[in-house]
Amino acid sequence: MTATPDTPTAIDENDSQPAIVASAAQPADSRNAQQILEDIFGYSEFRSGQAEVIDHTINGKDVLVLLPTGGGKSLCYQIPAMVRDGTGIVVSPLISLMQDQVEQLREAGVKAAYLNSSLDQDDYQATVQRLQEGHYDIIYVSPERLLQRYFLNMLAQTKIALFAVDEAHCVSHWGHDFRQDYRSLGQLKQRFPDIPVIGLTATADTTTEQDIQVQLGLDNPLVYKGSFDRPNIRYRVMAKYKPFEQIVTYIRQQDGSGIIYCNSRAKVDDLSAKLHRQGFKSAAYHAGMDADERAYVQRQFITDKIDVVVATVAFGMGINKSNVRYVVHHDVPRSIESYYQETGRAGRDGLPAEALLLFDEKDSARVKQWIDQGSMADRNAIELQKFAAMEAFAEAQTCRRQVLLNYFSQFSDTACGNCDICLDPPRPFDGLETAQKVLSCILRLQQQAATQYVIDVLRGKNLKRLQEAGHDKLSTWGIGKDQSDQYWHNIINQLIHRGYIRVDIASHAMLRLTEAARPVLKGEIGVELATPRLEIKADKPAKTALKNYDKALFARLKHLRKVLAQENDVPPFVIFN
Ligand code: ADP
Ligand code: MG
Repeated sequence: MTATPDTPTAIDENDSQPAIVASAAQPADSRNAQQILEDIFGYSEFRSGQAEVIDHTINGKDVLVLLPTGGGKSLCYQIPAMVRDGTGIVVSPLISLMQDQVEQLREAGVKAAYLNSSLDQDDYQATVQRLQEGHYDIIYVSPERLLQRYFLNMLAQTKIALFAVDEAHCVSHWGHDFRQDYRSLGQLKQRFPDIPVIGLTATADTTTEQDIQVQLGLDNPLVYKGSFDRPNIRYRVMAKYKPFEQIVTYIRQQDGSGIIYCNSRAKVDDLSAKLHRQGFKSAAYHAGMDADERAYVQRQFITDKIDVVVATVAFGMGINKSNVRYVVHHDVPRSIESYYQETGRAGRDGLPAEALLLFDEKDSARVKQWIDQGSMADRNAIELQKFAAMEAFAEAQTCRRQVLLNYFSQFSDTACGNCDICLDPPRPFDGLETAQKVLSCILRLQQQAATQYVIDVLRGKNLKRLQEAGHDKLSTWGIGKDQSDQYWHNIINQLIHRGYIRVDIASHAMLRLTEAARPVLKGEIGVELATPRLEIKADKPAKTALKNYDKALFARLKHLRKVLAQENDVPPFVIFN
């Protein structure tokens, strides 16, 4: 996720003693919650949980709301902020998120504003002034602004309806997106014990949930936890094999728009450019891009002018686009929380949508190595545990939705019927001979080859490099001719999972045999493998023609890039060729 930097500008820090805060009394908006829902937001009824949470907050009690992305958390604090006397102070981690929310509220006629580093000094001070005068129903503020001493002192003399901490998992080390600035938000409860605090997040593992309560100092809160099931999202995991081809094939089968998450900016730029060359209306999005450009891509996506956004995790938080039809993970995320949040951006309209994870053992080994190299040992242990859960999801041989929901402590004892495992259950077979082919091939190659090389030998490819090394003379050359590359990839991964092969990340991801491989090679024990799950057939008809892409849009983006490059005196990063 993007950390939009929000360094405070120089503002006169007035450190006078705070006045005593009067506790909130009469409602500011004489309308009740239901009327506001209808008049301002134009909805006829509350979604499950909203009414209860809003009621509690209006009554001045602390609440923790755990609702999935798109569940309707914003109303849970916006309506009480309007009903209660004073201004609702909303802490939000991202500038773009604040701007979106404020824009929407203003359009609905709500007196809302934000305070962050995007404002110039004059606007900032004018807003603070109006805040003090009680002009606003709702103010969004970044945690670092809020926690400045002068600001807290100023708030102490202002009538406050409530504090809302959006994306509250950011306070917790256990959350997938810890932020130092959020850590100190516990001060709010200490300093303003009579003002209700409402924390909201889409993260719901029990540890994070409890940590949020402690960190925010919530006082005997109502904890509202909604269902995390997103029944319209079909979860699929595919062995990552040739990711670019896999992705192209996949998105050609899709109607509507999608997001492809990659784990690095370089990969984002590269994949986006390649897709664009294939004629897709794609754009890149990551935190290394200029804010204007990011906003532009986001707008184009929301208004359906771009079909595919290739992005880092910077993309998505707070994006209000209901008709995202698919989310692809080019790389495995580091936790189930992140995976759930990112895939949760698909199908918010309730119509069928898909989440596809391209999973590769080697990525997995790399992530673990990377986590292990982190500087804080206890933190690493947590991260490794979290990643282990993510891996378990990817490797699951049982209903994936059950694995997900169980992780969020929402146990379900029936298989969902809408994930790859349910739709195409694993079929076991006696894999001894298959395993022996692979293991002996690795052995013949002196355990000095990586996956693809082993497969090339197995399949008896006439490649120059094999011939030069004399490997076309090996007894294992060609013994796996009858199957595809993808088949062998899958088998090798299964053998890795089962502990017969180890990927040596430290030396070019070469495959090494473990002790456990010995009895298999000797035929002393049996090996049961699952029939590789190769590409699942598309449900939808393949797209016959690619849509004409919007020339004007790309010209504009190209221009933007040029301008940026000149301004910053750096070569433009490639999105579009
Ligand atoms: P979250 O913050 O939980 O991800 P939002 O607050 O952004 O979700 O809400 C997601 C969408 O649901 C928004 O478009 C919002 O307007 C809509 N929404 C929220 N509450 C209701 C409701 N009671 N009826 C209909 N739509 C709603
Ligand atoms: Mg939200």
